[in-house]
Amino acid sequence: MLGQIVKLDRGFPLVRLEDGSFVRCKHAVDLVKHGDSRGVIGDWVELLMEDGLDNDLDNAQILRILPRKQVLIRKDPADRTQPQILAANFDLIIVTQPLAELNVSRLERELVLAYETGAQVAVVLTKADLAESEGQIQQVRDSVADMVGDIPVLVVSADDRESVAQVSQLIGDRMAVLLGRSGVGKSSLINVLVGQDVQETTPVREGDGKGRHTTVSREMVFLPQGGCVIDMPGIRGVGLWDATDGINAAFADVVQLAQSCRFDDCRHEAEPGCAVREAVEDGSLSPRRLEAYKRLRDENQANLDAREVAQRTKERRGHPRTRGQGSRGKRVRPRK
Ligand code: GDP
Ligand code: ZN
Repeated sequence: MLGQIVKLDRGFPLVRLEDGSFVRCKHAVDLVKHGDSRGVIGDWVELLMEDGLDNDLDNAQILRILPRKQVLIRKDPADRTQPQILAANFDLIIVTQPLAELNVSRLERELVLAYETGAQVAVVLTKADLAESEGQIQQVRDSVADMVGDIPVLVVSADDRESVAQVSQLIGDRMAVLLGRSGVGKSSLINVLVGQDVQETTPVREGDGKGRHTTVSREMVFLPQGGCVIDMPGIRGVGLWDATDGINAAFADVVQLAQSCRFDDCRHEAEPGCAVREAVEDGSLSPRRLEAYKRLRDENQANLDAREVAQRTKERRGHPRTRGQGSRGKRVRPRK
């Protein structure tokens, strides 16, 4: 029997079956024994329904995880040489940032993570009602649109149903992941999308109008029009896992310029004939953006190097190279 993981409950996945019913499962022993093969939200899984396994868990076992299409992946905060997959098989990833308190570096990092998934990417700027003026809304929206190129950039406030309707429309009947730091208004947005309070939110603190840390569980929420959203709560750390493609996509402007550098492997530091540094000098590329690019590029490289070292140490101790922990350039998922 096939189903999709819609929630992780203390390690026990809640699986939605094709008839719309839900079962709480455990992983088959064989599955977990062979390395890191636990299900994540969005995974399609093959189940064994059996009598007498464990009454609490609806007698269902996950036998197999079907190959993942998109995955949202970050560096495991506990072990930088390991990946952590946060969600799988979504079609759209929505990066959220508060319009009036936009953090450009954070947005760039989130975009890298988002692009790396291979899913469609969109940006939603939240809490537009906290903006000083219409002018500020337009200015922020334009500057973000400038930065991201072709992808949709929407502006919402939770109390403006029309603005949220645009997000509904964008999602349609697809599966979307909401990415963004806690407090940006993801749960509030989901509640309006659903039309009722399904996600817990925290009241605004007195005085500053900002929210506090709120959502804790990670689950798929089904929308009236047929699609669904997954909130990614509390992913404060968005450490990059092999994010080379994501960086290149999020910094398409830099990559484009780099094609005119004299050296193919130009690092845009002190090399002669560097078109990227020239662009900074003539004002067509902001120095801040080049710095952000280099920071993410170097961080990504440092992670890849750390993994390579960890892998070699492991091999010296006689462990074979396992899938998913491969060397530079190897991927843990297929490209779409
Ligand atoms: P999450 O952590 O991203 O899920 O954020 P929440 O949805 O819990 O929102 C955090 C806080 O911001 C809560 O106090 C919300 O009431 C508040 N909030 C959410 N959306 C809006 C909005 O559009 N406008 C304003 N002014 N406050 C909002
Ligand atoms: Zn260069």
